[in-house]
Amino acid sequence: MSLAADASPRSPLAATLRHDWTRDEVRALFDLPFPELMFLAQSLHRQHFDPATVQISTLLSIKTGGCPEDCAYCPQSARYDTGVRAEKLMALDAVLAEARSAKNAGASRFCMGAAWREPKDRDLDNVCAMVEGVKALGLETCATLGMLTAVQARRLKASGLDYYNHNLDTSPEFYDKIITTRTYEDRLETLDHVREAGIHVCCGGIVGMGETREDRVGMIATLASLPEHPESVPINMLVRVAGTPLAGEQKLDPLEFVRTIAVARITMPRSVVRLSAGREDMSEETQALCFLAGANSIFYGPKLLTTPNPGRDRDRELMDKLGILPMT
Ligand code: SF4
Repeated sequence: MSLAADASPRSPLAATLRHDWTRDEVRALFDLPFPELMFLAQSLHRQHFDPATVQISTLLSIKTGGCPEDCAYCPQSARYDTGVRAEKLMALDAVLAEARSAKNAGASRFCMGAAWREPKDRDLDNVCAMVEGVKALGLETCATLGMLTAVQARRLKASGLDYYNHNLDTSPEFYDKIITTRTYEDRLETLDHVREAGIHVCCGGIVGMGETREDRVGMIATLASLPEHPESVPINMLVRVAGTPLAGEQKLDPLEFVRTIAVARITMPRSVVRLSAGREDMSEETQALCFLAGANSIFYGPKLLTTPNPGRDRDRELMDKLGILPMT
């Protein structure tokens, strides 16, 4: 039977937004023949979005390196010798200059990332001033600062923060192979604080870290079963950085990456799915397939925190070739 013809209430094509995805259902989507999966993802994508536009975000590292956490993929952890130097929090003026330049290059959202386990209150004062300044430029604001308390989340909201990024990274079962310094529960708690403060949630994960397909199923099933789907779902391909424990990890088949994007699109049809880290190593063809699978956001600019990203010219060329425009 073609899934596309299935009009039952549990069909992915049914109009209702579901938050009760079972792992069996998510696994069945991953197992679909590729043409069926792509058709389903593209059909849902078109119900909710213009398929020829992509949202463009820029990510700036406002506080680089020296992080006490042990995330096995991350070159900013102080535990790994990756050549990333610990720096202080950037000055407000410098951040605003970067935001202006991102806006001129076509970005609609400006994300600020800090390599902290959690922000100290005095750091948060500075970040709130940055959020206010970026917002005043007419950009959407996003931050990723580690774990947040409920009070910190409310302070960020009051300063004008639109989105907070905090990824689940992987499945609950695989999580402790990647991070031991904070739990899955800690992450879910921060997401609750962000949601309760009225900030949009940006939450996704990383694939290609040595996890199984079942872990990718578990990650998507967890995200799609949150009481509210994250408004933004970044799906990252691991960037294997020398010096991190995952440097020697085997490269994930790009088609499996495309499948992960498609399943995210189908299970969270109204969310913006972001093709995030790992694009530097991706062929144009793979990126084009990701857009067909329902990815509709990218990070723009030559660097993603500390890892390389395609330059703006390369992105513009690809978007021109595909006839894709920036989402306004
Ligand atoms: S991912 Fe974030 S929390 Fe983890 S080590 Fe890197 S900067 Fe620290």
